[in-house]
Amino acid sequence: MKLQEEKIWEITIETKTQTHIHGGLRSSGMQGLMIRDGRFIIPGSLIKGKWRDALRSIQGEKCVNGAGNSSCGCLSCRIFGESGFAPSIIRISDCISNDTVDEIASGIRTHVAIDRHLRISKHGALVFIETIPEGTIFKGKVRIATGKLPAMDITKLKAAATGVIKSIGSGASRGLGRVDVSLEVVD
Ligand SMILES: [Zn+2]
Repeated sequence: MKLQEEKIWEITIETKTQTHIHGGLRSSGMQGLMIRDGRFIIPGSLIKGKWRDALRSIQGEKCVNGAGNSSCGCLSCRIFGESGFAPSIIRISDCISNDTVDEIASGIRTHVAIDRHLRISKHGALVFIETIPEGTIFKGKVRIATGKLPAMDITKLKAAATGVIKSIGSGASRGLGRVDVSLEVVD
């Protein structure tokens, strides 16, 4: 059900490089991807954390969330919530890949020779990581109670997602997880 003064956006995330969204260790010893019902997923909680950090970096005011016992009240805290003070007014669903794991895997076999990255762990062991190929599209829904938010704050919130988030998942320092994020008003 749609709440009063609630906006619904569709969020689209397209991978620009191979990407690893950690889904646990496989019995083969491979670092597996997050998969549900045959499709890759990016959890909403992961996107929310990235989006909050992105907004903090452009909101033009300092965030003191977690420092001392008082409420911060900055824009990112008003939108994403502050434990013990304010609830989050934004909800982000998990983002789900357009194509199934099987469709993507068959694409990998014909177009890309290898979909696995190799690295050395801190302890000197080899670690194999599964990755989602570049060009994979994920979609999800964002619901936000915009009632008390000035238009400029909504603009900043959108800009944080579409202009500031450049990577998601692990291995960003090695070039994994580069993404483009876009938002479209649904309702
Ligand atoms: Zn804050």
